[in-house]
Amino acid sequence: MKELKRKREELIQNLINQGYLKTPRIIATFRKIPRELFVSEKYKKYAYADEPLPIASGQTISAPHMNAMCTELLKPKKTDKILEVGAGSGYQIALLSVLAKEVITIELDKELVDFSQKNLKKAGIKNVRVIHGDGSKGYPKEQPYDKIIVTCACKKIPKTLIEQLRIGGIIIAPVGETLQILTLGLKTKTGLKKEYHGGCVFVPLRH
Ligand code: SAH
Repeated sequence: MKELKRKREELIQNLINQGYLKTPRIIATFRKIPRELFVSEKYKKYAYADEPLPIASGQTISAPHMNAMCTELLKPKKTDKILEVGAGSGYQIALLSVLAKEVITIELDKELVDFSQKNLKKAGIKNVRVIHGDGSKGYPKEQPYDKIIVTCACKKIPKTLIEQLRIGGIIIAPVGETLQILTLGLKTKTGLKKEYHGGCVFVPLRH
């Protein structure tokens, strides 16, 4: 336990030194959420390696520097309503649950719906709604969202998701096929203003 805490702090220091973590309240959130609760028992000892790890159904929990990048780019505010596509382990949405007001995640795979819910419960997080469904269609019931994060690779940012974002809202998604570009879109009255934040590798969005 003590050893994991030491490794967590070491990882956080590295992410700060490498420029991935910048904002004090985001850094504090990385300290608060134990990543080891979001991986299976046999991977616990690797919970603070800066690498993706396997979860169920051939999916992965992203590398921590990717969580750091995405969280910094989203600029989560305490008043935000955020939608995530792809709950996976639940770790990314756990981070956002501390930084925003309302957070919803949609997961296609039932096994991972259960896995993420179980992990969130272990971490004592109560304000995340995990929905079983196809996230490429978003979750229209709760629109508009201030921020949307897609954590699986898509060929282009799904139009339905852009429609569910408020004007001034931010969407981030890995866009591409085998290798993707982490793309940030700012929704303006005249369309989506895009910024590109380097290469990344996420598992593909499934239908
Ligand atoms: N955010 C996760 C990592 C996600 S891995 C974490 O922090 O651990 C990508 C996830 O997207 C997988 O769990 C996969 O099942 C899910 N996924 C793929 N296609 C999807 C879709 N159309 N709708 C919802 N979830 C989807």
